[in-house]
Amino acid sequence: MKVLFLDQSGQLGGAELSLTDVAKHFQDQSLVCLFEEGPFAEKLAVEGISWQVIQHKAPSISKESGIVQGLLSIRQLLPLVLAVAKTAQAYQLIYANTQKALVVGAMASVLARKPLVYHLRDILSAEHFSPINRKVAVTLANTCATLVIANSQATRQAFIDAGGKAETIEVVYNGFDPQRYQLEISLRQKLQAEFGIPDGFWVGHFSRFSPWKGQDVLIEALQYLDPGVRVLLVGKALFGEDEYVQHLQAQIQDYGLQDRVHFLGFRSDIPALMASCDLVAHTSTAPEPFGRVIVEAMLAGCPVIAADAGGATELVEHGTTGWLCPPNDPQQLAQIIAHCQAEGDQRLQIAKNAYANAVQNFSVDQTNQAIAMLLQTYIA
Ligand code: UDP
Repeated sequence: MKVLFLDQSGQLGGAELSLTDVAKHFQDQSLVCLFEEGPFAEKLAVEGISWQVIQHKAPSISKESGIVQGLLSIRQLLPLVLAVAKTAQAYQLIYANTQKALVVGAMASVLARKPLVYHLRDILSAEHFSPINRKVAVTLANTCATLVIANSQATRQAFIDAGGKAETIEVVYNGFDPQRYQLEISLRQKLQAEFGIPDGFWVGHFSRFSPWKGQDVLIEALQYLDPGVRVLLVGKALFGEDEYVQHLQAQIQDYGLQDRVHFLGFRSDIPALMASCDLVAHTSTAPEPFGRVIVEAMLAGCPVIAADAGGATELVEHGTTGWLCPPNDPQQLAQIIAHCQAEGDQRLQIAKNAYANAVQNFSVDQTNQAIAMLLQTYIA
């Protein structure tokens, strides 16, 4: 099937990493259109996926945009819409992977008379989006999209609660190639040397820096834990949240945790890093639409604690394939981390269960087949 994928971002967020896997499946006849240059385009090139940047400057709508800003940005978007509509002539459908791509893709699909698929990777709730942004997304999806693919039941339900049509939304979880995560190597010694991380009980946090990703919750939990526990923060502020990073640094100073929190920056060797940790903590304070890092930790054989909300609750069975912790509750988080640290055998057993669960339920082949089948059913 000839698919024109659309994504607004040049950065490598979870939506872009997941789209890379989907686009690879359709790579022979498809094109990924981006609205800005950046590491995502570089990754597509490395993977041998055709890509093109249609506009270098991303349209300036933020998740919190109000109506005036929204209307102004529509004017900004017109040249982009026209360019996408023209490119779409050579493809069977437009596949919008992000919210701004939906806005552009919806208008382009009308002009080009091509069906639109919207891959919904956001929870359309008040915690994540302004009312106008929710309204725009749901209205465009309801009127223009032939099919909406949600990345979890939680994402699907939030869409319906926000007024989205239930008939055209289907759930397909993100998929992963288990082989990428089966690494025998541990980077512990290398990391100890490179970042001066002493040995101990390493808790990894893998995420872009953003207030709702809750790195601060983990840092707060750390003060209740014994000095052998260390936190590795992997990721960076991808979308301009530098103030939040400064806040984290101030928090670390205030608690005197400078020797126990280690910033590793944005990395592309996630499986090996996860395999080097004793535990992965996922601490989002708002419901996570899916939570790729949770499944990745399972595949890397590292036990995981996840925030008990949104899509994460569909990935982890508490006490069997991981632990769930109430979001934004540092004391409870500290208690669970201390429990994991003390119960080595249980930790191993849970990691084993989680690995089997992830291999069985989140394979990239299953995901790609499910998407291909949905496209056949709804579009062909
Ligand atoms: N990630 C990465 N390098 C980093 C930090 C994170 O490649 O330094 C990846 C991580 O492995 C995961 C993705 O970024 O695949 C984040 O996806 P998730 O669903 O957890 O969150 P999102 O960014 O989509 O909100």
